[in-house]
Amino acid sequence: MLPFARVTIIGLGLIGSSIARAVGVRMPTVRITGHDADPDVRARARDLGFCDDVTDQAGAAVVDADLVILCVPVGAMAAVAADIADDLPADAVLSDVGSSKAGIAAVLAEHFPHNPIVPAHPVAGTERSGPDAGFATLFDKRWCILTPADDADAVAVERVKAFWTSLGAEIEVMEAKHHDLVLAITSHLPHLIAYTIVGTASDLEQVTQSEVIKYSAGGFRDFTRIAASDPTMWRDVFLSNREAVLEMLQRFSEDLSALQRAIRWGDGDALFDLFSRTRAVRRSIVEQGQDDPREDFGRAH
Ligand code: NAP
Repeated sequence: MLPFARVTIIGLGLIGSSIARAVGVRMPTVRITGHDADPDVRARARDLGFCDDVTDQAGAAVVDADLVILCVPVGAMAAVAADIADDLPADAVLSDVGSSKAGIAAVLAEHFPHNPIVPAHPVAGTERSGPDAGFATLFDKRWCILTPADDADAVAVERVKAFWTSLGAEIEVMEAKHHDLVLAITSHLPHLIAYTIVGTASDLEQVTQSEVIKYSAGGFRDFTRIAASDPTMWRDVFLSNREAVLEMLQRFSEDLSALQRAIRWGDGDALFDLFSRTRAVRRSIVEQGQDDPREDFGRAH
């Protein structure tokens, strides 16, 4: 039995359109309604045809939904909640896909005191955004973390679990605050480092821009993929997960200072030990199927 029959997606970019496409492939009888604040995105979504219906107003999209998923940038969640509050059916399950969870949970609980709320974060994505960037297999074998409150409706949690399992995802349940700490180190800090290093390289005066680009295969280009991620999305992630990111940044700065000291004092053993440990982390990621095992990410040479 399908967990939901009428799913509404608000925000038809990379994640929203990927959910719609994946539902179309894996649960073709489910009716998908979509809405996006941007008229150009709505027009494109209609052309691409991954929704059964695309509405011009957010309220109209939710009136007969049994699951509503908010797929907008974290900073836009409150505005969308206000837009749909009068039209959301009392028994509809409300979810979102925001990359940070504690702040959104508070916003949703305030706007929807009576609806079952089951926040989710599919840990899957690319550096692209918009409705053309989505694809149906995005969530295949990727983790989807659910962060329901302690008193959340248990049946709704099971239904949302079943929904994401049907899209190919593996499910983990954790507290919103713990999620934000884990993602601060596994996702948010790596993005911050990539934004920093690409920014620093583009500001350098002794090395020309053309040299930075010409010799980027030395490592720099792998940071540029992450640093090309959506500016709105990432601005909102850092502002909403401020405390956890600052805590992890503090740890990172201390470790960076230790490395700086090792280089200054010629402590090769310290460098070698760290680099051996980090190599093992990469091996584990590949062994657990979270990345392509081929060398250089499988790029053609
Ligand atoms: P995206 O491709 O930029 O799509 C977001 C869409 O929401 C855009 O079309 C945007 O329109 C629209 N939007 C903005 N404000 C809105 C509002 N008030 N009402 C209705 N629509 C609105 O972004 P995404 O990558 O899919 O990210 C969506 C969410 O998923 C974010 O919360 C993000 O944190 C989360 N997430 C992202 C990834 C990833 O790797 N990208 C992974 C997991 C979770 P405009 O662009 O025209 O403003």
